[in-house]
Amino acid sequence: MKKIAILGSTGSIGTQTLEVARNNGDLEITALAAGSNIDLLEKQIREFHPSLAAVWTEEKAKELKTRTADLDVKIVSGMDGLLEVAVQPESEILVTAIVGMIGIRPTIAAMEAGKDIALANKETLVTAGHIIMPLAKEKGVRILPVDSEHSAIFQCLNGESRGQLKKILLTASGGPFRGKKREELKNVQVEDALKHPNWHMGRKITIDSATLVNKGLEMMEARWLFGVEPENIQIVVQPKSIIHSMVEFVDGAVIAQLGTPDMKLPIQYALYYPERRYLPGDRLDFWTLGQITFEKPDMENFPGLRLAFDAAAAGGSLPTVYNAANERAVAMFLDRKIGFLEIPEIIQSCMEAHQVIPDPTVDQILETEEKTYEMIKGRW
Ligand code: NDP
Repeated sequence: MKKIAILGSTGSIGTQTLEVARNNGDLEITALAAGSNIDLLEKQIREFHPSLAAVWTEEKAKELKTRTADLDVKIVSGMDGLLEVAVQPESEILVTAIVGMIGIRPTIAAMEAGKDIALANKETLVTAGHIIMPLAKEKGVRILPVDSEHSAIFQCLNGESRGQLKKILLTASGGPFRGKKREELKNVQVEDALKHPNWHMGRKITIDSATLVNKGLEMMEARWLFGVEPENIQIVVQPKSIIHSMVEFVDGAVIAQLGTPDMKLPIQYALYYPERRYLPGDRLDFWTLGQITFEKPDMENFPGLRLAFDAAAAGGSLPTVYNAANERAVAMFLDRKIGFLEIPEIIQSCMEAHQVIPDPTVDQILETEEKTYEMIKGRW
């Protein structure tokens, strides 16, 4: 039995991780953590019998405790609760399927405790990659990518020498507004932005896909995971999301990983790596597929991607500002307080106002996040 703990078990990645566990008889769920959805968390506890579960607020934790009084499960809350889930002695792998920079401290704590990380929470690597990657080496733990593009790259690099990798070809669907110009993007509504052409994901990442900020975050995630400079990461738009990413080696050979868009594949691959298991679902049929097309990303009308390359080039605390400003701007867009085009405008203003801290500590990263939020609060 492989023992796993999940941060963010009620979300898109979290529920699909539990589906993988349901389909395989040899994954034991030892701990779960969620934000506020205690209805679903209670169901998950009853089905998977973890010995520990965390919810964010104390009030919800109290309610969950009452509801699960008939079960042998400890209920905890707040950051202490997330940390307890992260370092729980029974688990071997922590799946970080929580959304946002709140994932940094629990991820570090789990690594310190010797756990492998199945990493979906890209914000952690974007903002603290310079701390996470050396720590993984020092502690001898593995960072197994769950993001489909990064899993694809990871699969393409299997058995290859990292020193012979020339560049990463990070594929992008282009999102629901591919081909649109600024004028047409001015009045797009939340509902339009939430219609991703190929993937069903959480709300925040779906908006990030529409602005191309998600690709910017993925570029920075790839940079840390695979030790490649941003200028050697090329974004390739491929609208059907069939090629999940590619790598080019020094001899010019390009290797790609393809498949139907299904997050359960990268999740399962991370949990069983290096073993492959049967996964139910559709298979690619190249006769009906016909063609796969490619385009250059449009960084003029979607400046969120260009800003990510600026943030990565400056490094230090600037990727934190990029990420934090985006998190807050996306929340405001979802609350209908700002328009779609204001998301990259807010990111850019915050980046321009920031004095970069080179090599920031975790405390400095979290302070930078707070300061970025304060700046946005005062101005928008
Ligand atoms: P969702 O919004 O669907 O889920 C987020 C999860 O985090 C929920 O379980 C939520 O709980 C939990 N959560 C939020 N805040 C807290 C908190 N304060 N304490 C504890 N738990 C909390 O997000 P996704 O699953 O879409 O994304 C999760 C991460 O994975 C993100 O970093 C995203 O970028 C990345 N990712 C997602 C992909 C996808 O296909 N969805 C693909 C690749 C990467 P609750 O439900 O109770 O609010």
